[in-house]
Amino acid sequence: FNVPIAVNEPVKTYAPGSPEREEVLTVYKNMFNSKVDVPLYINGKDIETGNTRTMSPPHDHQHVVGTYHLAEKTHVEEAISTALEARKKWAKMPWQQRAGIFLKAAELIAGPYRAKMNAATMIAQSKNIHQAEIDSACEIVDFLRFNVQYMTEIYMEQPESTSGAWNRVEYRPLEGFTYAVTPFNFTAIAGNLPSCMALMGNVVVWKPSDSQIYSAKVIMDVFKEAGVPDGVINVVFGDPVMITDTIINHTEFSGLHFTGSTFVFKELWKKIGNNIHNYKTYPRIVGETGGKDFIVAHKSANAKQVATAISRGAFEFQGQKCSAASRAYIPSNLWDDVKNYVIEDVTSFKMGSPENMENFITAVIHEGSFDKLAKYIDEAKASNEAEIIVGGNYDKSKGYFIEPTVIVTTNPKYTTMCTELFGPVMTIYVYNENDYSETLKLVDETSEYALTGAILSNCRYAVEEAVQALENSAGNFYINDKPTGAVVGQQPFGGARASGTNDKAGSAQNLLRWVSPRLIKETF
Ligand code: GLU
Repeated sequence: FNVPIAVNEPVKTYAPGSPEREEVLTVYKNMFNSKVDVPLYINGKDIETGNTRTMSPPHDHQHVVGTYHLAEKTHVEEAISTALEARKKWAKMPWQQRAGIFLKAAELIAGPYRAKMNAATMIAQSKNIHQAEIDSACEIVDFLRFNVQYMTEIYMEQPESTSGAWNRVEYRPLEGFTYAVTPFNFTAIAGNLPSCMALMGNVVVWKPSDSQIYSAKVIMDVFKEAGVPDGVINVVFGDPVMITDTIINHTEFSGLHFTGSTFVFKELWKKIGNNIHNYKTYPRIVGETGGKDFIVAHKSANAKQVATAISRGAFEFQGQKCSAASRAYIPSNLWDDVKNYVIEDVTSFKMGSPENMENFITAVIHEGSFDKLAKYIDEAKASNEAEIIVGGNYDKSKGYFIEPTVIVTTNPKYTTMCTELFGPVMTIYVYNENDYSETLKLVDETSEYALTGAILSNCRYAVEEAVQALENSAGNFYINDKPTGAVVGQQPFGGARASGTNDKAGSAQNLLRWVSPRLIKETF
């Protein structure tokens, strides 16, 4: 098939004085100082329910940037029936037209909507411009472009035929409608989950996170302008239990594409299981659900490289990545150097509002997250098994600011070595440099999650030992790098165990979950 070859969208640097820097700051200020009203979006129409909640940036929680409308059950039902109606045409539309719509969406984001997407992500999710650019400009564009390419690769995959019998596979969309539940931490993931299902011919009800509504609104504006027909993607906000129950109780529910917490994903899976006799078809269930991602250093590693993997892997994006490094195992021979480099690096990070381009660290997403992180920091301060070597302060008077914090523990099973915190707190365990094999065993045993992990070593044998010993501990495994920063088209992303179904985001494998192939054999 002849489609444009997917290329990664280049990351802009926003250098001082550059036009893109001026533009994004202007757009940010305008959006920050005005009030947006975000209605539901059902059947191509804005639905104002009148029941609203305010939206505030996490870095300035008393400042209101707008409101969003909450759905009643009847709105969710309308979103479902409207989607099923839209499916009649959408599922039959030639794939080239669906591809064209989402390629157009990619170019709208890469071009005219770029500043707005970035500014919305800076405001709603407190990302600095570099974090926003990687996420809400480049990664979402990459997902859209690469998914179109993967779709055509899937469609090309056909069985053998003989002269008297022609075998062909139609990669049909799922029967019924699908449900996308998306997280706050990546605007790109929020855009990818509904759009990749729609690209494959499915119709979608999408519930974004309450903390990502501003950027979700911009994504929907883009999809609409790109030509996504009315009813194909419908957006509802509000009570997650009511919305989910209304959807999952519907007989035509046929797929869940989820990114969020392990707990919620398991609850949804249970609800789907309880309803299994009511469905027309077995629903597809795809989820990415958190991590407790590790860095292991071998005694042969370079201390500076290990320290950089820790400070970048743990603290970029405020540690609010499923992939963020949150536990590290450092050999005793390297510890003094690693410690000094980490402290030097982390104390150089500036913290504050995202519109100040110097700030490396900004606020965490909301009060619940702030309070949880503060509690673990306080516990570490009081524990005789833990010591805070850098950071440890927090302040929520204006925004939810947690200093990047490094805890060192003498107990490899200390709470913060095992519990997912989803914020800028990293815990380090120093092991006897001669206990490398035992340490790898320990890492695997304590990997309830299995999303990302990294081994740093200058010894090939040690690398190979880690590759073997940790084969089930990380869906994305990095050698001599930090465990974050997967790029669409290069490192398909996902993990197993409590981290999800490992249907890599940005892959043909993921798109295949959203089709129900029909084999046709025709004899002559
Ligand atoms: N894909 C991102 C990375 O590799 C993380 C996405 C997530 O947090 O879910 O860093």
